[in-house]
Amino acid sequence: MVKLAEWRGKEVFGKYGVPLPRGHVARSAEEAESLVRSGTVPLPCVIKAQVLAGGRGKGGAVRFADTPEEARESARAILGLDFKGEKVREVLLEEKLSISRELYLSLTLDRALRLPILILSSQGGVEIEAVDDSQIERISIHPFAGLTGYEERRAAEVLGLSGTLAKALAQLLRSLWRAFVDEDAELLEVNPLAVVGDGLVALDAKVIIEDDAAFRHPEYAEIRDDRTPLEEIAREKDIAFVQLDGNIGVIANGAGLTMATLDVLQELGGRPGIFLDLGGTDDPKKVTEAFLLMSQATPKVVFLNIFGGVTRCDTVARGLVEAMRQVPESQRFPIVARIRGNNEAEGTEILRSAGITSVPSLKDSAQAAVDRSREAP
Ligand code: GDP
Ligand code: MN
Repeated sequence: MVKLAEWRGKEVFGKYGVPLPRGHVARSAEEAESLVRSGTVPLPCVIKAQVLAGGRGKGGAVRFADTPEEARESARAILGLDFKGEKVREVLLEEKLSISRELYLSLTLDRALRLPILILSSQGGVEIEAVDDSQIERISIHPFAGLTGYEERRAAEVLGLSGTLAKALAQLLRSLWRAFVDEDAELLEVNPLAVVGDGLVALDAKVIIEDDAAFRHPEYAEIRDDRTPLEEIAREKDIAFVQLDGNIGVIANGAGLTMATLDVLQELGGRPGIFLDLGGTDDPKKVTEAFLLMSQATPKVVFLNIFGGVTRCDTVARGLVEAMRQVPESQRFPIVARIRGNNEAEGTEILRSAGITSVPSLKDSAQAAVDRSREAP
């Protein structure tokens, strides 16, 4: 998932002809001021934190300025923020528009319907999760036919737009649809879509690009700066690996089991921090690579929770034993294991010969991992 900051999302929108406020990104208070002084950004203006979290408006990360000095000071204040755990490194400065209505519009994929859908609400400007479901309209789009006049007219009706505004909406929808398809987007969200005079303007932009299509878009490659160095290596090896705060390393297979394992450890008072999803593999080398990666993250204990299916228990056990042979003594960590399913007896035996006991009960094994994570170093 490649999530673009608002200003990058707007660059994408602009490429497809979506109407936008005039604006520019800045990385310091001085740069913000000079953008205003040079007229690149007209006054009055809006200064917005460029973070990936939403709710900036309510959270004080969107401010208004009437003078270059105010723009500078607002930029300074916002650049100093830690917004929902994200350090603000960039601000977007834009002309402040006089808006008469705030609408909501997004294009995304409905996984249940297996179709692209257009989501609309006349209650824009607030997070869509907070809008009553009766105020939200979902229109599915035929993937081959694409967006047609039918959806355009229906959208205008839902948003209460007629005449020139309905025409503007149709044009905007066509631009967004083209962007959605050509950029391989997973989500294009405009919230608010503002009515300004007799036109429509995208005041905010949330763009998420589908990861599996990343190879078609080298232009987004540089944006992946939110990964840790180990996560980057894991990605190159096609291993799902995430590093968070916490001292228990989790190795499981399948996203569902991995998440459930994190939940159980958390509930028992543990702090799962690093998790690695082996997925479906039957290659002991890949398992070894995954374990070596985990050892570099220096967890206090590793909880191995495997349900053998495509990934057979003995494959995992072999990969693990091989990895432990390669990890230097100083970097070894205790392992609490629970391997069940396909070739369980064989896998358990391989582990036992390496001195690791597989505990069949989820609760008992998770508890053992939590206990080990609390022991003095
Ligand atoms: P979010 O809260 O993180 O989604 O940030 P938004 O970009 O959606 O901005 C939040 C709110 O700021 C919007 O819903 C608008 O009410 C307000 N806002 C942003 N730009 C302008 C503008 O140009 N003019 C006016 N009047 N309000 C704006
Ligand atoms: Mn918004």
